Amino acid sequence: MSSITEIIHSVPVDELTGSISVPVYQTSTFVQEKPGVNKGYDYARSGNPTRKALEDVVARLEGGHSAYAFATGLAAIDAVAKLLKAGDEIVAVDDIYGGAYRLFTHVYQKLGINIRYVDTTDVANVVDAVTDKTKLIWIESPTNPTLKVSDIEQIAHVAKANNALLVVDNTFASPISQNPIALGADIVIHSATKYLGGHSDLVAGLVVTKTAELGERIQFIQNASGGILGPWDCFLVIRGIETIELRVRRQCENAQVVAEYLASHPEVDRVHYPGLASHKNHAIAARQQNGLFGGVVSFSLKEDTEEQAEQFVTQTSYFKLAESLGGVKSLICQPSKMTHASVPREKRLASGVQDSLIRLSCGIERGEDLIEDLKHAFTSIKTKETTTV
Ligand SMILES: *Cc1c(COP(=O)(O)O)cnc(C)c1O
Repeated sequence: MSSITEIIHSVPVDELTGSISVPVYQTSTFVQEKPGVNKGYDYARSGNPTRKALEDVVARLEGGHSAYAFATGLAAIDAVAKLLKAGDEIVAVDDIYGGAYRLFTHVYQKLGINIRYVDTTDVANVVDAVTDKTKLIWIESPTNPTLKVSDIEQIAHVAKANNALLVVDNTFASPISQNPIALGADIVIHSATKYLGGHSDLVAGLVVTKTAELGERIQFIQNASGGILGPWDCFLVIRGIETIELRVRRQCENAQVVAEYLASHPEVDRVHYPGLASHKNHAIAARQQNGLFGGVVSFSLKEDTEEQAEQFVTQTSYFKLAESLGGVKSLICQPSKMTHASVPREKRLASGVQDSLIRLSCGIERGEDLIEDLKHAFTSIKTKETTTV
C-alpha cells in the first residue's frame, strides 16, 4: 500500500473548477463532439468520473493494477465468479461469508461450477482439495465470525503451482491492515459497506486486480452485467477512505483491549481475536496483518445458551444490536440468531459458532467506554440469573 499521504493526495482535484472534493457526476450520458469522439466517457454504466476516482484510489490502497466498483460486496463477488465456465471448480474457505456461500451453492453450482469447502487455516487441506479443474482458490482472512486466519502467502504458492487464481475477500482486515496482492493474491474483494465506507451509511463492493489483463476481464463483466455503484455512493466511499487509516487504527486498538478484557472475564468461555497470543494462527496474523488485528472480536459465554447471549446483546448501549461491521459506531450481534440463522445448527457448531457466540464490531469510541458498556451487560445477565434462581 502507498502511504496514507499519497493515498489522500491521489484523489484528484477537479480540473475544471479546482473543487478539492471529487464532484458527483450525476449523469447517465456524456455529450459527444462527433459520433465516437468524446472526453473519455460515453455512457454511465460503462464509466463515470466519480466512480473512476473511487476505483483508482482503491487500486492504490490495495497495491493492485486496477479496481472496479459494484453496487454491493456480493455484486463484486458475483463479478469474479463470472470469470468461470461450467466444469470449473472453486476451492473455498469453509466458513466463507454466508452470502458468498448462498451465491456459490444456490446460483453457480446450478450452472455447473463445483465448489469444495475446506479449512484453509491448514495449507495442506488446500493442497489436497485442488484439482486440474480448480480455477479459483477463495479465502477470507480473518473469517466471520470466528476470526480464523489463513496463510495468504503459502496459499498463493499453491494457487500458482496449480494455475489457479487466488481471490482474497479482504473485508475483515481492511487494506490498512492487510494487502493480499503483495502476498501473492491475484484478486482482492471488499465489501465497502464495512471499513472502506466506514460510517454504516451505504452498501458497496470493490474488485481489485493484480494485473491489467485480469482488470480488463472484470471491467468487461462490470459493463456487461451492469452491477455498478452509483456516483453518490462512490463519493461517499471516497470520503470514507480519506479517514480510513485513523478509523481502522482506533478500531484495532479498541478491539485489542476489548479482547483482553473478555479473555480475563470469568463468565466468558472462548474469545476469538487474532491479536491474542492464544489465537491458533496469531503468528501468521502478526506477520501478514501489519500488526493490526482488525476491529472485530467474538466470544462465547460459560453458560452456552442462545437465551444467555440474547440477554447480553440487548443490554449494551454503545454497542448497537445490528448486523454488519466496520462503522464508526460499535455494533453487537448474535450470529446464531442473526447472520448465521440460516446455517444448520450442526454445521454452525462444527465451524465454532456456538449458541452463545457474540460478535462485536468495535467502533471509534473511547476504549474505556466500550469496556464499561460490556461490564454493564455482564452485570445484568448475572442479576437476571440470581433473580430467576
Ligand atoms: C458484508 C460482507 C460481504 C458482502 O458485502 P455486501 O456489501 O453486504 O453485499 C462479503 N464478504 C464479507 C467478508 C462481508 O463481511
